[in-house]
Amino acid sequence: MKKAAVIGSGFGGLALAIRLQSAGVQTTLYEKRDMPGGRAYVFRKDGFTFDAGPTVITDPSALEELFALSGRKLSDYVEMINVDPFYRLCWEDGYSFDYCSDETRLYDQIEQKNPDDLEGYKKFYEFSEAVFREGYEKLGAVPFLNFWSMVRVAPQLTQLQSFRSVYGRLSDFIKDPQLRQAFSFHTLLVGGDPFKTSSIYALIHALERKWGVWFPRGGTGALVSGLARLFSDLGGVIRLNAPVNEITTHDGRVEEIILENGVRERFDMIASNADIVHTYDTLLRNDRRGQSKGRSLKKKRFSNSLFVAYFGLKNNHKHKHLAHHSILFGPRYRELISEIFSGPDLPDDFSLYLHMPTKTDPKLAPEGCSAFYALAPVPNLEKADIDWSAEGPKYRDRIFDYLEKRYIPDLRADLVTSHIFTPADFETHLNAHAGSAFSIEPILTQSAFFRIHNRDDKIPNLYFVGAGTHPGAGVPGVVGSAKATAGLMLEDVFASPKAAQ
Ligand SMILES: Cc1cc2nc3c(=O)[nH]c(=O)nc-3n(C[C@H](O)[C@H](O)[C@H](O)COP(=O)(O)OP(=O)(O)OC[C@H]3O[C@@H](n4cnc5c(N)ncnc54)[C@H](O)[C@@H]3O)c2cc1C
Repeated sequence: MKKAAVIGSGFGGLALAIRLQSAGVQTTLYEKRDMPGGRAYVFRKDGFTFDAGPTVITDPSALEELFALSGRKLSDYVEMINVDPFYRLCWEDGYSFDYCSDETRLYDQIEQKNPDDLEGYKKFYEFSEAVFREGYEKLGAVPFLNFWSMVRVAPQLTQLQSFRSVYGRLSDFIKDPQLRQAFSFHTLLVGGDPFKTSSIYALIHALERKWGVWFPRGGTGALVSGLARLFSDLGGVIRLNAPVNEITTHDGRVEEIILENGVRERFDMIASNADIVHTYDTLLRNDRRGQSKGRSLKKKRFSNSLFVAYFGLKNNHKHKHLAHHSILFGPRYRELISEIFSGPDLPDDFSLYLHMPTKTDPKLAPEGCSAFYALAPVPNLEKADIDWSAEGPKYRDRIFDYLEKRYIPDLRADLVTSHIFTPADFETHLNAHAGSAFSIEPILTQSAFFRIHNRDDKIPNLYFVGAGTHPGAGVPGVVGSAKATAGLMLEDVFASPKAAQ
């Protein structure tokens, strides 16, 4: 039986490991931390369960597919709950918009805001569906290994004006400034500046409308546990607390994994779900390919980072007015985003994503309490030189002041527990280059063929999966990347046995 290793148990690593193991490749998953999930880690504190990262689960069909490979069902492992409205969008002038699945309600809200934008919205939705078909359904799980694979799809992408930004293209259809924000902020969820990210990313809108927004009972951590259990049930091996220190090469091929505790294991093929700079620059530091690729990757533009404050409150009856997912827009949009992506300082104002999972699953907090996290996009460590050990608690206090003033009046009086995760933590705990929350920024010149290839160009049995590869960050993205990478690995190992010998 052929043996594969996957380094990192993010959604991409887990999905790849499941695909390989389902196809009969004996797979070992190495995870540095004490639990699987990567950015979808879980913090438990004072009886509260806080999902650290992804909370908006879209395209459940991509997850279903992982279970169906072995004739199983997602619902046997985890219950997925529909969340509606998808998001409540709130502005400082008191205006709010429920972005929801019910088309009539959506249309009514757009018409009330700006009657002229209703027809524009319908056209934008058509556009979004067209890019969804091209960018997600056709190309979302395709490995772009050479330039010609990109050239072949260029005419369709040009026709869809993918060279323009999401915000630019949206502005052709919608005029109201707040509605423009409502339908363009989504790229921020995958580390993209809506004013620079290719309009292909408008597909997120169609994706959400097609399948809705979901939340696993027990939190995203329950979905991660379900995937990890599926992998184990299939005979896969998960090694936790197992940071990989080095990948060795011999005769131009990867050969062994050496853990920090010195344990070594030999594999036919190795895939990395860890950060791409970390993989080349650190794990392959003794190989010329690793050194040169590591150097060139550091010149790429990395996406922003995030500051997340997790907190638990008592008196949950006071939080009934809040939705599960809220986007709280601050006073500035374009300027704030520009400062987040370019630095050099931490902006004075912020826009927040407020997560209240207990709206859907009250068991994530003790009786009578509510669990929350507030997330602020912030510059990565390369763009802004901030001492987060000093700034973090102050920034949390500013966020708490803001929330208390506008959305959660008794926040401090009701505070039971809190915890923060800063850009420095992304770097330390996840080995994320520059503390980036989403790897390489998803601009056109760093997408598809221009992203990290699912198989290394020089080392034929070294593969990549996750946010740094095509199509990019976000749960559907990395699960799609796993499909592309698994396709290559299985083709290499089964169709052409020599390649994987
Ligand atoms: C706060 C936050 C909120 C988000 N919200 C959403 C959302 O609502 N919806 C959505 O779709 N997406 C969301 N995203 C994006 C999404 O979570 C990520 O793009 C995705 O989960 C990344 O998965 P990945 O496969 O790239 O692996 P990662 O999650 O990056 O995992 C990589 C793993 O590799 C491990 N590793 C690193 N180095 C080593 C080593 N040397 N040895 C062993 N292991 C190693 C790490 O510990 C980690 O577990 C969010 C991201 C963040 C940070």
